[in-house]
Amino acid sequence: MSTTSRTRYSLGVDELAALAEEWGEPKYRAQQIFEALYRLRIPLEDATNLPKAFRTRASGALPLAFDIVAKATSSDGETDRWLYESVRDRAQVETVLMRSETRASVCVSSQAGCAMACTFCATGQAGFERHLDAGEIVEQVVRAGHGSPQPVTHVVYMGMGEPLANYDEVWTSIERLHGDLGISARHLTISTVGVVPGMVRLAKERLPVTLAVSLHAPDDELRSQLVPLNARYPIAAVLDAAAEVAGAHGRRVSFEYACIAGVNDTLQQAGALARLLRAWQGVGGAHVNLIPLNPTSGFSGRAPTRARVRAFAERLREAGIGATVRRTRGVDIDAACGQLRSRHPTADGTPASTTMEP
Ligand code: SAH
Repeated sequence: MSTTSRTRYSLGVDELAALAEEWGEPKYRAQQIFEALYRLRIPLEDATNLPKAFRTRASGALPLAFDIVAKATSSDGETDRWLYESVRDRAQVETVLMRSETRASVCVSSQAGCAMACTFCATGQAGFERHLDAGEIVEQVVRAGHGSPQPVTHVVYMGMGEPLANYDEVWTSIERLHGDLGISARHLTISTVGVVPGMVRLAKERLPVTLAVSLHAPDDELRSQLVPLNARYPIAAVLDAAAEVAGAHGRRVSFEYACIAGVNDTLQQAGALARLLRAWQGVGGAHVNLIPLNPTSGFSGRAPTRARVRAFAERLREAGIGATVRRTRGVDIDAACGQLRSRHPTADGTPASTTMEP
């Protein structure tokens, strides 16, 4: 479904070499442009190691995949969010950069929209538009890092879309982030709602990337209400596949759990979740990331109180399951989990209200 087009970050070093040759340029030009784009990670326009004429030609032949529609920065200055629009077909995606003192993580989108329809997720509420190609995913990472004083060392596939529903392009992007940008495999995290065939493929890959699984409920009845895909791949099948990945990669899996008041936040449910994960045979054990629900327009649920989420975490820990409550970063700019959704303009063509500054 995705028609890969040649864009600035769609070419690796071999393809750049072929391009340089086609243009009758010396061989080392390919290496120079590769260094600028992926090692120094500077905008092509700033790559003054390249002759001006070559830079101009390369800019024209390798256009950026996305225009920036809007950028917003959270009030604490630690989180940036971009709304991008594809130059090719105007599909919109979002990217988030989270900075700490020493490092930066980028949260990338793997699809424009999402077909998984998880009830509480803004992207799921909006529906599927198209897959992104690998160059579009790599571009999100590189451009997010351009203005950042801290280097991008971590990438999480937790933006718009279900990465394992776009397996080939996502995996190509993983190999390029690892090979071309030099990001360590364990700092590349794929988050899935439980696409079992994709997880089984992941277990066979050479690069031991980190896996996160969005669980959200300790039993199939409740999970099916929140995550429609559970009807196809129930909890037992998802946990088996996760154990396969953990074993193959020798890495702990984390389980995401969006906490929704009165729905999945009781201590009984914490106990059931702990029993489920204690019985799970994954290498390195399970770790639960509790995400207090972020508000979205299409879902009426609310986050539990902080105290209640803490008590839920405590019950998991008492039962021997590691648990952390995720800080909700960027809520004031709708950049927190599940809030990424294009809102420029709304479906009926009218401009949407937004907290972003154009
Ligand atoms: N499709 C993938 C990755 C994208 S979502 C997946 O489902 O894992 C990244 C995480 O944010 C998932 O765990 C998702 O369930 C969670 N999330 C989605 N909407 C949310 C919301 N409104 N509040 C809190 N977490 C949410």
